Amino acid sequence: MREAIIATLEREGRNPNSYNVAGIMRDAFCDLGPGYGYIAESEEKWHQAVEAHRRPFGVGDLVRVVVTTKSETAEHHYGRITQFRKANGGFYRGRPVKPHSAYVELGHHHKSGWLGPLTQVTLALDDFEIVREWGEIHRDAPNGDWFTCLRCGAGSYKSAEVMMVHKVSGQRVRLCPACFNDDEVAALGHQVMFHGRIGQQTVAELTENPELITGSAGDSPYAKSDGETYREWADCFPWLVPAAAAELYAQWREQQGVTR
Ligand SMILES: [Zn+2]
Repeated sequence: MREAIIATLEREGRNPNSYNVAGIMRDAFCDLGPGYGYIAESEEKWHQAVEAHRRPFGVGDLVRVVVTTKSETAEHHYGRITQFRKANGGFYRGRPVKPHSAYVELGHHHKSGWLGPLTQVTLALDDFEIVREWGEIHRDAPNGDWFTCLRCGAGSYKSAEVMMVHKVSGQRVRLCPACFNDDEVAALGHQVMFHGRIGQQTVAELTENPELITGSAGDSPYAKSDGETYREWADCFPWLVPAAAAELYAQWREQQGVTR
């Protein structure tokens, strides 16, 4: 049973080390008595139990941290916790009960790691929605077709069975269960980050002329006006929008009655 729970956690892109497996078993499964084993209660119970028994952070967790670049831009980077540290940066002897800080390995696109308090660390999975409903995954497929796996589907026509959506930007990938793992979670997160980098120019423009963000919508259904392009970008990267432009955009939305 333990193994089955661990396998399911992995299938959902979670790090089993971050969960109290015995707790999940107790809350989401029924003991049928000696010789009969356990039976899962319901999907809903499973989700509740998984939320309730998640340890705050563990070594190996894929997390998101905010890195400030030389040009003072905040970027979201993804990496794994490799160590816990004390408030003064020192090491713990043994396993810390309530660690203060974490060292996060940021991977090959970044020279060094990140060290900072756990209060500034977010579990990477919190940034994403994992969708497994066929109808939902294939809704926008061209010609009423279905999507194949982004990684292995080109040669094999293997259909996508998992869709991962970056909640803020809406960027998504569709994968088969074999290709879905937390490296893919980090890859999608970084894809969003690189889009953000490309947006540097946009940041500079909106800093200079914040009112560009309230530019009028165009008449053509085929080409976006400058204003529409700025607003679409701002919806994807709200944390990058310069303060003055963000305020103008908020007012504009209020006037337009945009609720989202
Ligand atoms: Zn695949």
